Amino acid sequence: MTNHYNLICIGGGSGGLAAARRAAQYGAHCAVIENNKLGGTCVNVGCVPKKVMWHAAQTGHMLNHAGDYGFSFSNTAFDWSILYTHRQRYIERLNEIYRSSLADAKITHIQGSATFVSPKTIKVNQQTYTADHIIIATGGKPQRPDMPGTEHGITSDGFFELRAQPKNVAIIGSGYIAVELACLLRSLGSDVTLFVRGSRILSYFDAVLSTGLTEAMLNNGINIFFDTQLSRLTKKEQQLTLHSTQQDQLYDVDCLIWAIGRSPNTETLNLAVAGIDTDNFGFITCDEFQNTNQSEIYAIGDVTGRAALTPVAIAAGRHLADRLFDGKTNARLDYNHIPTVVFSHPAIATIGLTEDEARTIHGESVRIYQTRFTPMSCALSEHKQKTAMKLITVGTQEKIVGCHILGEGADEMLQGFAVAIKMGATKADFDNTVAIHPTNSEELVTLK
Ligand code: FAD
Ligand code: NDP
Repeated sequence: MTNHYNLICIGGGSGGLAAARRAAQYGAHCAVIENNKLGGTCVNVGCVPKKVMWHAAQTGHMLNHAGDYGFSFSNTAFDWSILYTHRQRYIERLNEIYRSSLADAKITHIQGSATFVSPKTIKVNQQTYTADHIIIATGGKPQRPDMPGTEHGITSDGFFELRAQPKNVAIIGSGYIAVELACLLRSLGSDVTLFVRGSRILSYFDAVLSTGLTEAMLNNGINIFFDTQLSRLTKKEQQLTLHSTQQDQLYDVDCLIWAIGRSPNTETLNLAVAGIDTDNFGFITCDEFQNTNQSEIYAIGDVTGRAALTPVAIAAGRHLADRLFDGKTNARLDYNHIPTVVFSHPAIATIGLTEDEARTIHGESVRIYQTRFTPMSCALSEHKQKTAMKLITVGTQEKIVGCHILGEGADEMLQGFAVAIKMGATKADFDNTVAIHPTNSEELVTLK
């Protein structure tokens, strides 16, 4: 017998859980199918364990500079295995909270891999299911390059399984994950070398952020090889040797992490049976309302390849549930002005257009305000970690279309400014706001 629901979400990660919970609030009979741990990437191998590691790294950073404030410690040893145990205990608690919150909301949790067996029928463990509406929220997975020895490296998933701290690490890539892992490993004491295939890290961010972070990473002792393309990886006992297209034996390490992007989790879904379209990279194509090309089948979150961030998957799922089960026919996520933070050391926070994008779109009407300064927290220290800020405005009204911050506290600073920018704030609105002193964020409302 086939079980029927009002809504089935395939994937119990950020997007699928948010959509099912919101739909259940409206009285919909919902099921979530998950083939791994509830909570998905964010909770198990993404934001949550990463942020725990980032807090550990911040603590290490503070301890390193505590001497400037007169502190001395007889023992500041760091034990990776204690951190690992505490972190995983926290994640298990979260998994349990997700399990019980589904039960509380009367949402059926089906454990197993979903596969389409006909356009509107899904099979999991020999049982078939149908629904009025099906949301595909299966997320993504880390990519590995196609080259000899690729299996000797680990990905971010493997990084979160490490029981011991790697001493000498190579990280391949230049995006969010590459710089976050490089910075936190360095702050915890590992030797870190970043291999970048192009001429800059975070190539799709404003240049002020990528140049500023490069300088900070070099000052913090991270080696960076630019314009370097690996050709193969070899392993002898515990040592990995990196070979590049320019240099045969380029570098030796004891751990290599691939951080070169993510691909969609669709291979077990059998999308062809359901006739669901994907793009050239395999991401499910959908319109601004998350509709796929098949009626009553939708896609949200990382599997769509758009702004792969947890709050985006959640918001898309909630808007979709509002539309399908609460009669809000126009409900949809606005993908413009999504704020985002890179948890590097120091952190990056950014929203809106980069300077290059703004000049391409708005030409001469762009005006830039920027500053670079040493924050007061470094005043007593030899180690001066600069803060950089840039506001991008357009037109005679000087509407703010981009805001980019690199520096201590950037991660917590942007959310409030993002509200103002989303509401259409101008430079005059920023100028008319009384500064909070002494802070780093006050510089954003006093830019000349
Ligand atoms: P997921 O959370 O990946 O959930 C998809 C779920 O579907 C998974 O649990 C998977 O097991 C399941 N699944 C897949 N196929 C099937 C199937 N056939 N049947 C049943 N179940 C299936 N974002 C931020 O906003 N902030 C951060 O700080 C941040 N840090 C990150 C750090 C790392 C290392 C990584 C990898 C990602 C990070 N992200 C961060 C991105 C964030 O984790 C994702 O954008 C978010 O988890 C996407 O949610 P989702 O629901 O689309 O997919
Ligand atoms: P990203 O898309 O951020 O970066 C991937 C990088 O890998 C690109 O910059 C690209 O460099 C480089 N690259 C691609 N192929 C190769 C290759 N063959 N060799 C060397 N370098 C290569 O992907 P991530 O995996 O870092 O993260 C995936 C997504 O997860 C992010 O885009 C983000 O949406 C999300 N995320 C969010 C976080 C947060 O919110 N703090 C943290 C972590 C992840 P190039 O510039 O040369 O094209």
